[in-house]
Amino acid sequence: MLSIGRHTGWRLLQLRPGCLFLCDLHPHKTLHHNHSRAPKTCHISRRFASGNHHSTSSGRRDGGPNPTHGSANEKSTLNLPQLDVKWRARWKQTGRNTNYYYEPTKFHILVRLSHKAVGGMEQVFVSKEATLPERLVENMYILPMFPYPSGDLHLGHLRVYTISDVLARFRRMQGYRVMHPIGWDAFGLPAENAAIERGIDPATWTKQNIQKMKGQLDAMNGHWDWDREFATCDPTFYKHTQRLFLLLYERGLAYQAEALVNYDPVDKTVLANEQVDSNGKSWRSGAKVEKRMLKQWFFKISEFREELLGDLRLLSKNDAWPERVLAMQKNWIGKSKGAKIKFPVTAFNQQALAEIEVFTTRPDTLFGVQYLALGSTHTIVQELAKSDVELQAFLDTMPALPQDSKIGYLLPHVRATNPMAYEDDVPDATKTSLPIYVAPYVVGDYGDGAVMGVPGHDTRDHAFWKHNRYDEPIRTVISSSPDESTIVEDQPFVHPGHLTSRSGRYAGKTTAEATKKIVELLASKNLGGPADSWRLRDWLVSRQRYWGTPIPIIHCKSCGPVPVPKDQLPVELPPLQDHWVTGKAGNPLEGAHEWINTSCPKCGEAAKRDTDTMDTFVDSSWYFMRYPDARNPDIHFSADAAKQWLPVDIYVGGVEHAILHLLYARFISKFLALTPYWPSGFATGGEPFKTLLAQGMVHGKTYSDPSTGRFLKPTEVSFSKSKPVIIASGKTPDVSFEKMSKSKYNGVDPTACMNKYGADATRAHILFQAPVSEVLEWDEEKIAGVTRWMRRLHNWVYEGYRADDASCFWHGYWFDCRYYLSQSELDLRIIDTPNFASLPKESQHNLLLQRSDLRLQGELWRHVQKTIRNVTASYSNGHSLNTVVSDLMSLTNAIIEFPSPQSNNISGRLLVLHQAMLTLLRLTAPIAPAFSEECWSIMAYCKPPLFDRLKGIISTRSIAPLAPSCLPTSIFENSFPEEDGSYESLAPATQKVSVQVNGKLKCVVEIDKPLAHLEGILLEKWVSKEILSNGEAKGKLINERLDVRNSTKVIVVKKGQLVNFVIGQRQAKKK
Ligand SMILES: [Zn+2]
Repeated sequence: MLSIGRHTGWRLLQLRPGCLFLCDLHPHKTLHHNHSRAPKTCHISRRFASGNHHSTSSGRRDGGPNPTHGSANEKSTLNLPQLDVKWRARWKQTGRNTNYYYEPTKFHILVRLSHKAVGGMEQVFVSKEATLPERLVENMYILPMFPYPSGDLHLGHLRVYTISDVLARFRRMQGYRVMHPIGWDAFGLPAENAAIERGIDPATWTKQNIQKMKGQLDAMNGHWDWDREFATCDPTFYKHTQRLFLLLYERGLAYQAEALVNYDPVDKTVLANEQVDSNGKSWRSGAKVEKRMLKQWFFKISEFREELLGDLRLLSKNDAWPERVLAMQKNWIGKSKGAKIKFPVTAFNQQALAEIEVFTTRPDTLFGVQYLALGSTHTIVQELAKSDVELQAFLDTMPALPQDSKIGYLLPHVRATNPMAYEDDVPDATKTSLPIYVAPYVVGDYGDGAVMGVPGHDTRDHAFWKHNRYDEPIRTVISSSPDESTIVEDQPFVHPGHLTSRSGRYAGKTTAEATKKIVELLASKNLGGPADSWRLRDWLVSRQRYWGTPIPIIHCKSCGPVPVPKDQLPVELPPLQDHWVTGKAGNPLEGAHEWINTSCPKCGEAAKRDTDTMDTFVDSSWYFMRYPDARNPDIHFSADAAKQWLPVDIYVGGVEHAILHLLYARFISKFLALTPYWPSGFATGGEPFKTLLAQGMVHGKTYSDPSTGRFLKPTEVSFSKSKPVIIASGKTPDVSFEKMSKSKYNGVDPTACMNKYGADATRAHILFQAPVSEVLEWDEEKIAGVTRWMRRLHNWVYEGYRADDASCFWHGYWFDCRYYLSQSELDLRIIDTPNFASLPKESQHNLLLQRSDLRLQGELWRHVQKTIRNVTASYSNGHSLNTVVSDLMSLTNAIIEFPSPQSNNISGRLLVLHQAMLTLLRLTAPIAPAFSEECWSIMAYCKPPLFDRLKGIISTRSIAPLAPSCLPTSIFENSFPEEDGSYESLAPATQKVSVQVNGKLKCVVEIDKPLAHLEGILLEKWVSKEILSNGEAKGKLINERLDVRNSTKVIVVKKGQLVNFVIGQRQAKKK
C-alpha cells in the first residue's frame, strides 16, 4: 500500500497500535516478541486516563517554562491578548508571517513496511521524502477590498479582513500557494479636506494613517503579503495608472468631451453618474448635485457594455457572485430593446433638412405621438438658443428645476412630422404636424436626449401634456381588449395590448405584431429601425481636485492634447505646502504655475498640463492586477505574473460596492485582457473576480430613550444591574441594532476590543455571530461564549500535555486512527468466533468491555471525520463560516466529555483523543492562529529518546530526515486535516428489535447487530444489555410495575429481531 500525503506536514508513524491489550489477550501471538522493543506503558496523565476534566490535581507543581501560563500551578491561566503578542513576535522572528509561501516541493510518502520476520502482524509506517509533482501546487489569490487609509480600522474592515485571512490561512494549510496581499486606496477627497483643515500636505496625513492602520492589521493576527504592499498615491504606483490612462487614450477609449455633468458644489468637483444617488445627491458630500456644461475626460465603458452585461451569466454560475449584485449590475447597465425613429423637422413651414431621432421601447404607440420633447443639450436646442433669447433664458433656469418638473418651453416656428404621415391610409390626426418642447425631464446627456411624447400611453408624457396642453384631447391608440371596450380616456394605458382604429391599417394587431410591422416599414423608408438603448453612460473620470492621479496630457495650442511621453512618467503632483496652510477651496493645481507650464512634447512650444486628476475609482479599477507583480518598475504587470495569479480567486468586500467599483473593475479588466498585459485573461472573458463574497454590514448596539426616541450616550446608561438603566430617569432604555454612526453613539473600536479579549476571540466572535452575507449585530457581551470555549480547550491541552512531562511518547506524531480502529476491530473478532466461548470468563468480560470502548472511540473518530467534512465545506464555500465555529465547539465538547475507559485499553483511548485534538487544533488554526499555535506547541513537544525506541524497528537512516527538532513546529506548517474515509466504514451496523413482555409488544428499539457467533445465553445477555442501554426502552422495561431483569426466560427470535421477556406475576414487581 502506498499512500501519498500531499503536504510536508506529514509525520506519520504507525506504532503498533493497541499493542498493550493485544499482548495481554493473545499470549500465543508472536507480537510479544516485539513488545520489548516497542514503547512500554506510558506515563499517562491522570486526566487522560480518567477523563475527568474537572480534576485539577494532575497539574504541574513546579511552574512551567512557558511564560504565557504564568505560574499556574494547577490550571492554566489563559491570557489571550498576551498570546497574540507572543506568537506575533515568533512569527516575525521565523519570517513565518511576513511572506512565505507554503512551497511543498518536497513531501513524504508513507510506506507501510511489513515485518514478516516477526509474524507479519506488525506494520510500521515510515515517511520518505519525495518531490511533489508540479501539478499539485496550485495558486490561490484571495483578496479583501483594500481600505481607504482613514487612520482607523473600523469593525466593518475587521470583518472583511478576518474573513479573507481565515480563507487564506485555510488554503495555505491545504497546500495552495496563497497570495493574500493588502494595500491602500490612498487618493481621495477626505485626505485633501483633512489637509486643508490641518494645514498639512495630504501625503503626510495619508502616510501617518497608513502607518497606524498597518499596526492594526497586524494586531488582528492577519497574515499579509507585506512585500506586495502599495499605496495608490505613491508615484511608483500611479505611474502605471497614468500608463493605463494613455493605453486607453491610444485605443480611443479615453476622450475629452463637452458635457452636461454632475457638479458637487460642496466638494467643488464633478461626479460620475454612479456617484449621484437616486435623490440627486453626491455619494460623498451629500450635497444636491448641479448640472453644468464642462469639458471633461471620459472612459468609453459603453464600448464594453455588451460583454459587461452578457458575462454576468458566467458570474452567476455556481453562485460565484451574489444574486443581488448581479441584479444591480444588470439594472445599471440597463439594456432595453426598441427602435430608433426619425421625425422630419420643418421650420417656418419650410421643409427643413433636419431630423430628430428618438429611441422608444414602444414603436406600437407611434400613432399616439402628440409632441416631441428635447433635452437642453440637443443640437437643435443649442442652435436655436443662439437666436432665441427666451430659450436661452429658459435654459439658464433649467439646472435649478427638479428632474420631475413638468415645465416645458415650446419651440416657436418649428414643427415635427410623424414618419407615418407619409403613408396614404393613416388617420388625419397622424398627418398633423407635432409641437416640439424643451423639457427638463428629458435627460440630455452626451448625445441623444429626445423623446416622442405619447400622453395616452406613458405616465410622464401624460403629466407633461396635462400641464402644457390641458385643453387638448389625449389620443388613445392601444387598448387592453381587441374591441376597444376597455378604453379609459383619463389615464394613460402603459401596458401592451391591441392597437385601436386610430392606428390605421394596424388596428386590431397586438403590440408585438404591430411593433414588428411598423419597425420594418420605417426601416424600408430609412426613417428608423430596430435599436437597443442602454442606461450605462461613459465613465466621467476627471476631477477638479488635487489628491488624485494627474491626467498625463499636455495641451498645446497647435497640436491639441498630447500624451506625456512614457519616459516622462510619472507626472508627479507638485508639493503645495502654501496651499494647505492658507486652506483655499477649489483645485490647487490650477494655481501651480511652475507645474502647469511646460513644453509640448510634439512641437516643443509652450504648453500647459491638464489640471484634472483622475477619479479614485480609476485606481481601484486595476489595483488588484498589480499585486502579482507589485515591484515591476516598467510595466503594470508581466503577462507571466498575470497568468499565474489572475483572475482573483476570492474577492471579499462590502455589498455597497456592487455597482461603482465592481463595474469599473470589470471594464478595465476586460480591456486589459485584450492587451499584451493579460493575454491569458481572454479565455475567461477578462472577468477579474471568480468568486465574490459580499459581506453584510456591522450594526452596533444602540440605546435610546423610549419616551423621546433620543439616542443615548454610553455614559447616560448604567450597566451595573442585570438590565441597562437610563441614569437620569431610571427607566429601561430601548435597545436596537443599527448602522454604526457617531450620532447614535453605537460605534465600536475594534482595537480596544482586541486588546481586551485578544484578536483570536474577536475574530471567532465576528464569524460566529452571523453568516458572512448577513448583518452582524455586534454585541460585545456575547464574546464570552467564544472565550469560554477557548479557555476550556486550552485547559484540556495544558493539563494533558505539560511540557515538562513526557507522559505521551507520541508527542508531535501522527498516527493513523483509522488503521488503529480497524485493526483493533479485527483483533477483537475473536468475540465473533466459537473460540470465544472457550475463553475463561474473565477474558470474555474484558473483551466485551474493550469492544464497548472501541465503539466509543469509533464514535468519537466519526465525529472528528464529520467535523473535518463540514468544516472543510464551510471554509471552501466561504459563506457559512459561522457554522465552522459551532462545529469546532461541538467537537471540543465531545473530546472533553469523552467517557472514562471501561477496560484497561488506555493507550487506545489516548491515541484517539490525541489525534482528535491535533485535528481539532488544525481545524481551528485559520480562525484563531495564535491560540492554536499555543495549544499546538504544548502538544508538539518532543522527547529525543523516542528515536532510541524506534531504532530497533526501522533503520535510523529512514527516520533521520524526519527527526523533529525539540523545538515545536508551527501549526501552519502542518496540513489541513483530510477525511480518512472512516466515517462510513466505522458506521455502527444496527438493527431494529421488537421488544415484548409476556408476548405483548412494549417497544421497538434500534441496537447494534449482534455478532455472528453469539448464541444461547450469550446472545440473550448481549441483546438484553443493548436494549436496556437505550434510555427510552429502559424506562418502559424497568419501572415501578415491571423489571425485566427479573425475567424467568428471555426468548430471542431471528438473531435478535424479536425478544420476548417472560416474567412471572410475582417477579414482575420491582424488588
Ligand atoms: Zn505642440
